Amino acid sequence: MSLVPLVCDVSVTNVCNATCDFCSYAYDKGQVHTRSWIDRKELARALPILYARGARYLNFQGGEPLLHPEIDGLVADAADAGIRPGLITNGWLLPQRVEALLDAGLRMLLVSIDSHSLEEHERNRGLRGLGERIRAGVQKARQRGIPVYASVTVSRLVQYDDLPDLLTSLGFDAVIFSYPRRKPFGSSSLVFSETSSLIDFDEPELIQALDGIESLRRHFRVMNPRASVEDVQRHVRGEEEIFACVGGHKYFYLDWNLDIWRCEAWSEPLGSVFDFAEIADQRDRCNACTMACYRDNSVLMHFGVALEDAASALAGGRLREAARTVFRRSVLSSIRSVAGAAHEVVRLTPWLNQRTVRAKAARPPTSELEEITS
Ligand code: SF4
Ligand code: SF4
Repeated sequence: MSLVPLVCDVSVTNVCNATCDFCSYAYDKGQVHTRSWIDRKELARALPILYARGARYLNFQGGEPLLHPEIDGLVADAADAGIRPGLITNGWLLPQRVEALLDAGLRMLLVSIDSHSLEEHERNRGLRGLGERIRAGVQKARQRGIPVYASVTVSRLVQYDDLPDLLTSLGFDAVIFSYPRRKPFGSSSLVFSETSSLIDFDEPELIQALDGIESLRRHFRVMNPRASVEDVQRHVRGEEEIFACVGGHKYFYLDWNLDIWRCEAWSEPLGSVFDFAEIADQRDRCNACTMACYRDNSVLMHFGVALEDAASALAGGRLREAARTVFRRSVLSSIRSVAGAAHEVVRLTPWLNQRTVRAKAARPPTSELEEITS
């Protein structure tokens, strides 16, 4: 029984046009030695394999994904394969490309924001005038009714009290935080910096920054579940986490070489995506890192995964194991987190939101779509 859809982050290129201090994709860091681009035809060939494994969400990322010359086609192929495409971008090319992406079937947009100060954000990105481009792109996406979130990395550039004013003025619905990473990844991902002074937090500073996320909830919608932030704080303190990560089971990373990885943080790929059907789920309990997308989904998916595991135990006649799997404090906490994010879960889940699915299939004009999703 599969209740919980699989999510896959897809890096379509290692090229970026920005200079973010805390990221090694930045073009001024000299870490990208060979420019790479995912092959559209090959990804299209892989989509049915991903779908058969349970993938219902693909998040396109980079580098900067809008630099991929066929990003609209990649989005369209995913949508046509029945997998909801989302995308995270720095927003520089958004005004030019957002309409085509929406026409192609984009269902969620994330735009990176580094600071409560637009000036600081543009300085860190090395892109003057970026704010106005983000504002224009976000407005177009909102007019078409898709969720648009700010993606903010926890860093010294963020003052939490002042963040809502900027995010509201740029038109964001909500914010999702990601946590800083200093150690290099074992995978092809370069979203880390060993040298950035913006993210060299010691333990008390990082705990305080995570507390800032909790305070912000009173003023602006934060998408990271509270239980997830608390688990990351446990990790930072060296305490045992409550939730096992779903990386390698319900959440995967696919790179421009079409290699499928347990996650960005893993040291070797599981294999080619074309062999995905033969690659086993990774169910050993891993809590080695604090990557937000994996940790947040681990909390939200925990309840559904527990039900799946209980159903399989029941099918095997193991009644006590089934009961033990479901009646846990962590499952109750996951249910609370899902309830807290009910609005977004319904909005993003195709089989809970059939009206939106029909709207995507028919791709009606803007005014009609606004009516459907209002
Ligand atoms: S954080 Fe994003 S925009 Fe900034 S350098 Fe890295 S990939 Fe580029
Ligand atoms: S905790 Fe980190 S390293 Fe472990 S599976 Fe999850 S994302 Fe990967």
